[in-house]
Amino acid sequence: MAIETQQHYYGGTWHPSAAEQFTDVVNPATQELLTQVPDASADEAEDVIQSARAAFPEWRRVPVGTRIQYLFKLKNLLEEHFERISEIVTLENGKTRNESRGELRRAIENVEVACGAPMLMQGYNLEDISPGIDETMIRQPLGVVAAITPFNFPAMIPFWFLPYAIACGNTFILKPSERVPLTAQYIFELIHQLDLPPGVLNLLHGGKAAVNALLSSPDVRAVSFVGSTPVARYIYAQAASYGKRVQCQGGAKNHVLILPDADMEMSARIVSDSAFGCAGQRCLAVSVAVTVGEARAGFAAKIRDAAASIKVGNGLDDSVQMGPVISRESRVRVEDLIHKGVREGAKLIAESPSAKDLGAGNFVVPTILDGVAPDSALSSTEIFGPVLSTVHVDSVEEGVKLIAASSYGNAASIFTNSGRAARQFKYEVPTGNVGVNVGVAAPLAYFPFSGWKDSFFGTLHGQGWDGVAFYTEEKVVIERWPTSWSRKF
Ligand code: NAD
Repeated sequence: MAIETQQHYYGGTWHPSAAEQFTDVVNPATQELLTQVPDASADEAEDVIQSARAAFPEWRRVPVGTRIQYLFKLKNLLEEHFERISEIVTLENGKTRNESRGELRRAIENVEVACGAPMLMQGYNLEDISPGIDETMIRQPLGVVAAITPFNFPAMIPFWFLPYAIACGNTFILKPSERVPLTAQYIFELIHQLDLPPGVLNLLHGGKAAVNALLSSPDVRAVSFVGSTPVARYIYAQAASYGKRVQCQGGAKNHVLILPDADMEMSARIVSDSAFGCAGQRCLAVSVAVTVGEARAGFAAKIRDAAASIKVGNGLDDSVQMGPVISRESRVRVEDLIHKGVREGAKLIAESPSAKDLGAGNFVVPTILDGVAPDSALSSTEIFGPVLSTVHVDSVEEGVKLIAASSYGNAASIFTNSGRAARQFKYEVPTGNVGVNVGVAAPLAYFPFSGWKDSFFGTLHGQGWDGVAFYTEEKVVIERWPTSWSRKF
């Protein structure tokens, strides 16, 4: 059967790619070939950029109250097609249908928040900064802006950027991950129904060549990136060297601190969901559980039971709780890291029933490695698979010190019944997102999606106020209207 190849969307219409290279997109649960995605050349990327550039002068003049009407329509279309989009996410990413629904819900929430642009975009002013002189700060759009997004949240992450960008009067280019292009393709089919002016929203497929074209184009004013730390670092440096505004979310290695006074049953259930949900491929997934003092024994037993009870399989089966990792290479990489951890002295304390019977998919079973040495590769490497390491310390101070030693700073959580310990943790832990008795501290759309250290390069984050500030330029106007110049009417 002929496989449809993905097309770019720009100038308000679909364009087949003239690319010489196409990448296979495969269902990670079955290895079924789903589609092929073009590796756009710099010339193709330039066509997309010029479409966005041409649309900007008129779009910025459309009143913000009119601009958000398109977003209200988009919200309704996303709701109407909610189940179909969730299914596509599961097909190409492998996560369970419920996990797909969850990320789409957060995507829609971002559209809703961006509908507040008439309030969010407002500046401020002050009369009589000097007698008869007033000063005003106005927010104006930047121009063409682009977002480069990863494979693990194909529906949600583009919406950390897209709705805010266009609500603020910019024109926007999405370069989705070449591993999950179908979700973006389907969403752009819905966007096509909005009757937006051509060029306001554009879709560019590809990899490094397409990204480099966006980074070097003088017509692209700002770049948002979400993905691994090495690429985040590269994009941050490149975009900055071309004088662009840039925000780059990178990788993660998230810790959870378990105190002896925590409810072990509940904590283990929540930590298990955080570590193994989405097959550990969440940037907020817990990767290291640090038990304090006597918490060790109680937590170990409960987390082993929780991990062993997870049903692994094809995410389209509603009884399944964990799907595959994204690719064969990913599976091999994760399994190699597990073996390396064991060679370095960690003890395998839980592995749910073998994934051998699950067919051809890229399945890795939920795995717990106990006693990982703090200086081992496993302890500092982002595994991005369903693997939880457990480490033991004697005090909260020692736990916070261990977390602070990580080069990443995306998220950390504490499980405790002590307000004092929780406060100390919130105050001292150097991560951008913090959970207290919460396993996945994922900020809602009206808060910035934070991240520190090697997990974020930039100043303004995605979502909420930060999104609006990122996509607008502040202009300050100082006015004097001398009465002596006034004509008398
Ligand atoms: P990735 O870095 O491989 O790819 C992300 C995007 O960058 C894709 O669109 C890809 O086409 C592009 N890209 C890849 N290599 C490139 C290169 N050399 N030059 C230019 N562009 C390139 O990331 P991924 O594997 O798709 O996603 C997983 C990673 O994303 C994990 O490290 C995860 O922690 C991170 N992530 C972080 C957050 C966060 O908020 N901090 C959120 C989600 C995912």
